[in-house]
Order: sequence, then structure tokens, then C-alpha cells
Amino acid sequence: MSQDTETCTHQIVYFGVTNVNIDERTIGSVDIWRCAICKKRFCEEKQLGIDSIVDYVGMPKIDPDEKWAILVRKLFKGKDRWKLVRLKQNGTLKVENPDDKVVEIPVNNFQVTDPQHASFLIDDHVNKAIEI
Ligand SMILES: [Zn+2]
Repeated sequence: MSQDTETCTHQIVYFGVTNVNIDERTIGSVDIWRCAICKKRFCEEKQLGIDSIVDYVGMPKIDPDEKWAILVRKLFKGKDRWKLVRLKQNGTLKVENPDDKVVEIPVNNFQVTDPQHASFLIDDHVNKAIEI
């Protein structure tokens, strides 16, 4: 039986990586870490050539009902085209786009359902590449 993730004193170990490719060229990646005790996963966005963008202290937080995902913004190019996000099973994903506009994207069964966006669950792409 796994422990409640909220009371777990996580023992984080490296788990894998998901590469983000455009035309088969890697432009960024997501490092995946996992707690050896409760198996909760933690992800960190890495843009190629930029040291990690740390806007938190310690491991990035994720709620028990959320999954890590890569959001693809089809209207944007290059590094602005993707972003690491947390998806709930159903509801709305609120993200700030590179043009400073906040958009609300509908989410259905851990997938964004919007013609201008796509999403890929990290859990399904450990040690794989995602072509965006
Ligand atoms: Zn843990």
C-alpha cells in the first residue's frame, strides 16, 4: 500500500526524460523525478540553452488529482510552442501565453480539447520524444 502523498517525506530519484522535438530536433525537455516511496512524479521544464527556470523552492508541486503534461500551442513557434502544465481530468486549464493573453482551454479526460492546442501526458512519454 502506498503512503498518502501529502504526508510522504518524498525520497526523490531521477526517473527519466521526455524530449520535445520540432522537425526531429530537440528544442527542450522535461526531466522526470519520482518519489521512491509514494511513486508521485515531479517534472521540471528545460528549455535548450537556458538554465532551468526555477519559480519554486524544492520540487514542483502537483495535486493528487492532476497529471503532468506538455501543452502544445499551435499558434506559436520555437520555445513558445510548448509548456509543461498540470492537467486535471476534466475542467479548464488556465495558461498565460507568450503574448501575455490568459487563455482558458477545456480539458476532457486529461486531454485539452481545443483546435489551437494539443497535449501529451508525460506518463505516456517517459524516455520518449514528442514531436510538436
Ligand atoms: Zn513520496
